[in-house]
Amino acid sequence: MKVYSFSKGGIQFEDGFAPRQEHSRLAFLPETVIMPLSTEAGCRSYPVVLPGQHIEEGVLIARGQGAGSANIHSPIPGKLVKTIKWGTESGVVSDALVIRLEGSFSRLGKSKTANEWTGLSGFEIRSLLAEYGVIEMEGLGRPLCDILSALEPTREPLTLAVRCVFDDPWLAADYCLCNENPDEVVEGGLIAARAAGASAMIFAVSAAEKRLGEILTDAAKRNEAAGRLAVASVTAGSRYPQHSDYEMNAILSRHAKNEGLAKGRFLILSPATLAAVYEAVVMRAPVLERYIAVGGPAVKRPAVLKARIGSRLRNLFAECGGFRRKTNDAGGSEPDFAVIGSPLLGRAAVLDEPVLKTSRAVFAPAMKSDKGVLKSLLRLKSARKFMPMAVCINCGECRSVCPAKLDPEHLYKRIKTGKHSDSLLQMVSGCIGCGCCEAVCPSKLPLCAAIARFTFKGAARAV
Ligand code: SF4
Ligand code: SF4
Repeated sequence: MKVYSFSKGGIQFEDGFAPRQEHSRLAFLPETVIMPLSTEAGCRSYPVVLPGQHIEEGVLIARGQGAGSANIHSPIPGKLVKTIKWGTESGVVSDALVIRLEGSFSRLGKSKTANEWTGLSGFEIRSLLAEYGVIEMEGLGRPLCDILSALEPTREPLTLAVRCVFDDPWLAADYCLCNENPDEVVEGGLIAARAAGASAMIFAVSAAEKRLGEILTDAAKRNEAAGRLAVASVTAGSRYPQHSDYEMNAILSRHAKNEGLAKGRFLILSPATLAAVYEAVVMRAPVLERYIAVGGPAVKRPAVLKARIGSRLRNLFAECGGFRRKTNDAGGSEPDFAVIGSPLLGRAAVLDEPVLKTSRAVFAPAMKSDKGVLKSLLRLKSARKFMPMAVCINCGECRSVCPAKLDPEHLYKRIKTGKHSDSLLQMVSGCIGCGCCEAVCPSKLPLCAAIARFTFKGAARAV
């Protein structure tokens, strides 16, 4: 078995505070949900319900308008209580609908009817994805129909790649989803491949999880809808950030070359996104819940939960046994903030923040004075102010782990001088934002964060 990995850099990312189970638990139904009307990229949807109105489970509550915004549906039956302001540390401020649980569930616990989709055209599938608000269930949460519609038809063949590379222990939610529902992930992949006009589907699986590759490939071969779609799997290394688009594209291209396949393009989607595609097209249901990994040093029993969108993070932590004693510096039993995503690239969140469609993991750090934990959270402004910055000691660690073969220390120093130039912008454009340099820097310098800020400003200047 050939294992494809990158030639230089990366880190072995292990975290004993992440959940390790193969299966998820169903989270309790929330008494209220908070539904932000903007995505993490700031694209807004517009409410179609009024305060006091009764809402059925799964009905449209806000309509996406324009590129980047998506339809939003109510995850619970209830009453729209009010609209509040909701904001993230990354600066997105949005209105959010607060819905209180009332009445009975029209979908939960009821048998579902699978709909035949093989006769649908790519356009009809994309319309269903837009109607049911399917987005990329990670990152900035771009609407999937936008991504698919932007794929220009070219002579280069397109392959749909399913990202089952678990080099980051905080990808545990996708791992559980693949274990529990491989058939849904596979059928969602077949549907997305049809909508994208792909001629092949490939499962990219971590070397440590090759059994999963066999399960997914067998499920695809069993599925008659696969038709003439070529299905294969590729084994990827387990060094972080192997799962990034940059490294995935590189190994998929090398694999295609080794197998004598035509050079082509790759559309890389996560298992969570494909499960949402399955729900929308086969079950004609919107995204109402998602798998989320819950853990961290302050949490008693880390687990992967299947939670309703809009549930408060605080409630998910409670379902994981609550917090260990004395989790903040004042001696209280609640951490001062949680972190959404990975410890390397996550963003801070208050405990009352809702689960979003893109929330694949959340963890609660230990006390702010716990330097060992905070070391990996330097991207967060709220963590950084408790960590005195040291100076670069020229150890070279950041250079040795950078998979993009950059010199993060040199870039950081040039950015700090304030003398910015187009050549500097060009150099930093090679950064894939993986956070490896920050994770290993003994001086705890915010290398990746500085580069990301500089790239963003440069891009804004160029517009
Ligand atoms: S410079 Fe960019 S690509 Fe290189 S390690 Fe840092 S964040 Fe990753
Ligand atoms: S890892 Fe940190 S201290 Fe070492 S060379 Fe890079 S920036 Fe300097």
